[in-house]
Amino acid sequence: MPPDAVQSARIRQQLARREAELQQVLRAHTVEAALEGGDDRSVADFKDMAVAEVQATVDEVQAAHAVAELHQLQAARGRLDDGSYGQCLDCGEAIDPRRLAALPTTAFCPACQQLREQRAARRP
Ligand SMILES: [Zn+2]
Repeated sequence: MPPDAVQSARIRQQLARREAELQQVLRAHTVEAALEGGDDRSVADFKDMAVAEVQATVDEVQAAHAVAELHQLQAARGRLDDGSYGQCLDCGEAIDPRRLAALPTTAFCPACQQLREQRAARRP
């Protein structure tokens, strides 16, 4: 059963809040990248460079996660619009409302989610 008007308004609010957080993560990442590109440390300290590289990698991962989650948010909003929100995309079963409350962007029931994760883990 798709969520009623009150529920979907609450879900949209939840999605919008998370979206703002993620966009902030991405904005911070972009600013940092711009700053890094602009500096001209001619005699960079070895250790500093190593730390900066690790930091950049962490930021990359964070940014990639943020982008992926933003896509999920948009997809969830699309499902709210077309009335398919709350149904598993794989088997069509209704997703437990408690699961949706904890994971508003989820598009799969626990069984299908698990299957997908197992398949993803097996991929080389
Ligand atoms: Zn399912």
